[in-house]
Amino acid sequence: MRVFSHTSRPSWMGLLTAALMGTSTVKAVELDLDDGDSIKKAAKEVATNMMTYYTGMNPGDNPGNLPDPYYWWEAGAMFNALIDYWFYTGDDTWNDITIQGMLWQAGDNKAFMPNNQSKTEGNDDQVFWGFAAMSAAERNFPNPPEDQPQWLEMAQAVFNTQAPRWDPSSCGGGLRWQIFTWNNGYNYKNTISTGGFFNLASRLAKYTKNETYAEWAEKAWDWTADVGFMTPEYRFWDGASDLSNCTPINQIEWTYNAGVYLLGAANMYNLTEEPKWKERTEKIIESSSVFFAHDPPDVMYERACETVSTCMVDQRSFKGYLARWMAQTTQMAPFTYDKVMKRLRASGQAAAKTCTGGSKGTTCGLKWTDQKWDKTKDFGQQMAALEVIQSNLITRVSAPVTDDDGGTSRGNPNAGSKPPKTVPPALAYSITTADKAGAGILTALVMIGIGPDDVLIKLNYTGLCSSDIHMMQGDLGVPPMSTFGVRSPGHEGAGVVVKIGANVTRFKVGDRAGIKPIMDTCGSCGHCWDDKETYCKAAIHTGLMVAGTYQQYLVSPARYASPIPDGVSDEVAAPVMCSASTVYRSLIESNLRAGAWVVFPGGGGGVGIQGVQLAKAMGMRPVVVDTGDAKQKLALEMGAEAFVDFKEVADPTKAVIEIADGIGAHGVFVTAPAAYKNAISFTGDRIGSVVMCIGLPPVGSMTLGADPCAFVLKNLTIKGTLVGSRRDVAMTLDFARRGMLQQISEVYPVNRMPEAVEKLRKGQVAGRLVVNFNWEE
Ligand SMILES: [Zn+2]
Ligand SMILES: [Zn+2]
Repeated sequence: MRVFSHTSRPSWMGLLTAALMGTSTVKAVELDLDDGDSIKKAAKEVATNMMTYYTGMNPGDNPGNLPDPYYWWEAGAMFNALIDYWFYTGDDTWNDITIQGMLWQAGDNKAFMPNNQSKTEGNDDQVFWGFAAMSAAERNFPNPPEDQPQWLEMAQAVFNTQAPRWDPSSCGGGLRWQIFTWNNGYNYKNTISTGGFFNLASRLAKYTKNETYAEWAEKAWDWTADVGFMTPEYRFWDGASDLSNCTPINQIEWTYNAGVYLLGAANMYNLTEEPKWKERTEKIIESSSVFFAHDPPDVMYERACETVSTCMVDQRSFKGYLARWMAQTTQMAPFTYDKVMKRLRASGQAAAKTCTGGSKGTTCGLKWTDQKWDKTKDFGQQMAALEVIQSNLITRVSAPVTDDDGGTSRGNPNAGSKPPKTVPPALAYSITTADKAGAGILTALVMIGIGPDDVLIKLNYTGLCSSDIHMMQGDLGVPPMSTFGVRSPGHEGAGVVVKIGANVTRFKVGDRAGIKPIMDTCGSCGHCWDDKETYCKAAIHTGLMVAGTYQQYLVSPARYASPIPDGVSDEVAAPVMCSASTVYRSLIESNLRAGAWVVFPGGGGGVGIQGVQLAKAMGMRPVVVDTGDAKQKLALEMGAEAFVDFKEVADPTKAVIEIADGIGAHGVFVTAPAAYKNAISFTGDRIGSVVMCIGLPPVGSMTLGADPCAFVLKNLTIKGTLVGSRRDVAMTLDFARRGMLQQISEVYPVNRMPEAVEKLRKGQVAGRLVVNFNWEE
């Protein structure tokens, strides 16, 4: 699940369009809660509107996927809503679509880890599909054909893949948000993932009477309490990083976290009839009153974002799940009935009052407390309205079935237990299928939606950059990736254009293109006009605000993708996108000229060695301060005029000054944070020298400065530059094309990417690591 993405921008356009056409309302969804037929009619109108978003049943589209900006998990939630819809209303309009979409997405191991998702799939995403399968079994939804995966079996498969991911190696247990180590969020243990597992385990326990599920449910509940994600008052926080032993806890409260534990507790009560589960169920009902308004009374709202109007795409649907699970709780724990129904009635009525938008007057708003359409439209909020309205039919339907009480779905306790490959299957897919049978992948790629001004790039290489780790950890003073819901870091990739938008003339399919640290800028602010585009306030940072180059397929605005010239391999081009063009930018902004002495402390590897080559090509005289024979050899080969081994000489500063005419360096280029310490000293008595800051230390961890007299008397400058602009990248690529910039990279096959990232994380990388997406060992 994510909260924001590059591709979510169209939703703002959607909102705008909705606002513009908001005046021609002709009709509204009418709802009389005491009349079952009225509820059914209202549910159908709202569901019909919801289904206008779904395109998966169209020929050539992928069954079970929602178009941008909606993520895969939300489609799983939709099928659950449709299964409930059929059960509540008896209307089978969307049953075929539901069976088709769920079977398609169940994947080879039946556990909802299909090839098209699992490189970025989280435990929470997976479990929402598991919920839909579980509901289908509990509701005796029409079974798939005999030779196809069955509902109960799919729910068991999800459980069987998640239980082994229970991870006591940090925070004492719990499920991580992400499944794969290379996805951001892997280090986040969150409530919805663990709660989803708890919810599914409790329902499987109830359905099958198998003790193992009940034991896991107990374990998941206890851990949630022990780690503090659930407070003693039964309120649910969002989660915490396991790098810091799950403290501090991110105390944002979402409706669906309360809901997911509520229904699990109610199932455990129903199964065991133990007083502790009764109390837990009651307490969650009580504590969830924070999600219900006083005016109008008992109307649900998403308190974390609605009042400040910041609900992101995913979050617009969350209320629907609390409504869904509250209703089902009344069947498992009938003592909750009065309290729950009061809230479901008030919320359902208020939600229906918001459904007056659009040309048919059935588009629902986000804020039920408004009791009128707020002139927005969105798939998730439409689904939430459906959930809360149809939930009011709960009194008119029978309770969930179980294995020994009417259930017809075939189970398989071992389903999904063969773990899927640890290589992201989408990547494996592109290797084994695409390159051996090109047409296959192209068919699949046509499904990736891109805007008219965008290109879809298939990366062949990504570089790994130490700032990727900073992006994951959020220690640069910018919010961490998780804030944006981004999982894939990385910001230097090279590959080939595989799809172009309708307006694109700059690229054609088959052209080579690269992805840079900036994915796009506004193009029309002072910075953009003034060759400072990388400082644009609207700049979109790759691998932070939008998915980065650790994933193979990326959509980029055509205007911002970098063409790669012939004669520069992808392996060389990828690190040019960030590191080489960054140091190029610094060299340009230093204003130094041919003949200047330029010092690269720690320049025997990584970014520094690229700076050495570029400086040499510009006629400057590089000096590298580093240690070891290997680095010395490399530095001298790549154009350094001198190498100072700081472990071999008594005073490296003095040695550098002596080399630099006995006066001092004209310029010092600091690529590694540790080198800031004595960077200024290398300038000696050189008048007009400049210290260029490139490497980023953790924010607040160090200060760089000197006596003001040094600035005055020596005309000293200290200056920093950010990454390269489009022009800087093009210029740097041209140095590479002319053979003046070689990459000294260690290449990893894609299946060893986690190992490479771990090496980077531990700071064990001397040069540059690049990953070849098309090479599997
Ligand atoms: Zn970088
Ligand atoms: Zn701008």
